[in-house]
Amino acid sequence: MPSSKPISQTTVFYRKSLETMARPDRLQYLNRKLRTIVRYAHKHSVAVRGQMDSAGLRPGDVQTIDDLEKLRITKKSDLVELQKKNPPFGGLEGVPIRQMRRIYVSPGPIHEPGESDYEEIAWAQAMVAAGFRPGDIAVNTFSYHMVPFALHMIDNTLHKIGCVTVPAGVGNTEQQVHILKTLKATAFCGTPSFLLAIAEKAEEMGLDPGRDLSLRVGFVAAEMLPESLRAKLEQKFGMTIRQSYGTADIGCLGYECSERNGMHLPDDKIVEIVDPETGKRLRPGQIGEIVGTTFNKAYPLIRFGTGDLSFLTEDPCPCGRTSPRITKILGRIDQVTKVRGLLIHPGQVDTIAAKHLAIGKVQALVTRKEHKDELTFRVELKEKVPELRVFVQAVERSIRDVMKLRGEVQIVPGGTILEGTKKIEDQRTWE
Ligand SMILES: [Zn+2]
Repeated sequence: MPSSKPISQTTVFYRKSLETMARPDRLQYLNRKLRTIVRYAHKHSVAVRGQMDSAGLRPGDVQTIDDLEKLRITKKSDLVELQKKNPPFGGLEGVPIRQMRRIYVSPGPIHEPGESDYEEIAWAQAMVAAGFRPGDIAVNTFSYHMVPFALHMIDNTLHKIGCVTVPAGVGNTEQQVHILKTLKATAFCGTPSFLLAIAEKAEEMGLDPGRDLSLRVGFVAAEMLPESLRAKLEQKFGMTIRQSYGTADIGCLGYECSERNGMHLPDDKIVEIVDPETGKRLRPGQIGEIVGTTFNKAYPLIRFGTGDLSFLTEDPCPCGRTSPRITKILGRIDQVTKVRGLLIHPGQVDTIAAKHLAIGKVQALVTRKEHKDELTFRVELKEKVPELRVFVQAVERSIRDVMKLRGEVQIVPGGTILEGTKKIEDQRTWE
């Protein structure tokens, strides 16, 4: 249904000519970019060439987005496998190591080539749409260590759009409050739950986040953003909060504008919604896996499957941007679950159980309390343990080591965990 709201005259764009392209122009533009990257990647990336060879394809066979269906989806687990066989990059890299600016290491482990100059504009489009403006003092609270997101993508982008960055990283909530207050920071980048933790810490310190801090815009990602939490944060800080969607592998795949009615597709990616079984592209409105293709020559991922579910809408947006939008993320295609911004999977539950001989059956429960994810391990014992408290602490330590998350252990009577139940049970609701 086309919206009846008039197109806003005050929308600020990062690249207006791209963001307001007519649909046929956008298709032509993306097809041209696709042909270039496929030709380039076939020549320079061993993995992409291998993928195309096994499908019997030459670069000339991929001319348009429709032709992408000839290629199979590459999953995160495929990246891990490729890199195991052919370290460090599995032939995924499109430039020699000496031409990379940095090498990132993400959980998996996956080694990610960082291009010499960060060329992508998707996050810049996202941040400008979120209300970030030149001169904003932005506190970047995503983790800077090893992974590409905070440094490569967000820090570079803040510089690109003229913001001043405080590379705050995660944790140290009290210090974060001091930083926000002393520097009169106007913009926040991070997870919504961390922003809530900052608000609560500020209040504990006797401050009123809305009155004593200067935050005016927030850019959140890496976690679900329930509307109730957005409203709470916007009200507490007197700021506006917009979310984006992306992965550390491929970058931004969608961003909210002022209308917050879904997430616009950026202009330097191809985003498809596909049937995860067949790889066939689905129509707007049909739920499927979000699959991205990047034009990044250092790391040319073609048809990267995120494992996340959503659907597309092509309804016009009153902001004036003409790209389609993905709606919110509806879940994961497999059992991988995101807790406090980190992916956890059943294999990790097994790893933890294997470390403790007394564990019979185990199930991880993910719940949500006061807008925070909670992880509980329900454990059935197969033998008596001398000191229950010591045992529980040891298992909780293993959870922290393996999943990089705090989890609570709950001992349950034998027979509580039924045969065939999911190893990770996600009981969160997002109202
Ligand atoms: Zn819009």
